[in-house]
Amino acid sequence: MSCLFCKIVRREVPASIVYEDDRVLAFNDINPQAPTHVLVIPKRHIETLNDLTPDDDQIVGELSRRAAAIAAERGIAASGYRVVFNTNRDAGQTVSHIHLHLLGGRSMEWPPG
Ligand code: AMP
Ligand code: ZN
Repeated sequence: MSCLFCKIVRREVPASIVYEDDRVLAFNDINPQAPTHVLVIPKRHIETLNDLTPDDDQIVGELSRRAAAIAAERGIAASGYRVVFNTNRDAGQTVSHIHLHLLGGRSMEWPPG
């Protein structure tokens, strides 16, 4: 499996890991776009949001709740943060393993570019 994020899960590629359990891994983005920029991923390979099935409802909930927990740890839960799942070309998805971007620690603009 050549997927970069699967390699991070298997520790074949190093990452700055901030959280891990049986199903979820979170690590700092290598090219941070905000003071907090963490990627929260399922350990199981799922390519895009388009590939989710009802069986994945629990893991998507876990990704969301883990993002909120990391935001709370960083002290940005009340001030605010953004979560993004880029999906396919027009959104700029570059790694085909779903990942929740947690961005915070600065004010965000809307709409995004
Ligand atoms: P996306 O463009 O939504 O697919 O996001 C992919 C993200 O992965 C980008 O923000 C990259 O900076 C990040 N990224 C790429 N390689 C690594 C890596 N080895 N470790 C951590 N983050 C990475
Ligand atoms: Zn993968």
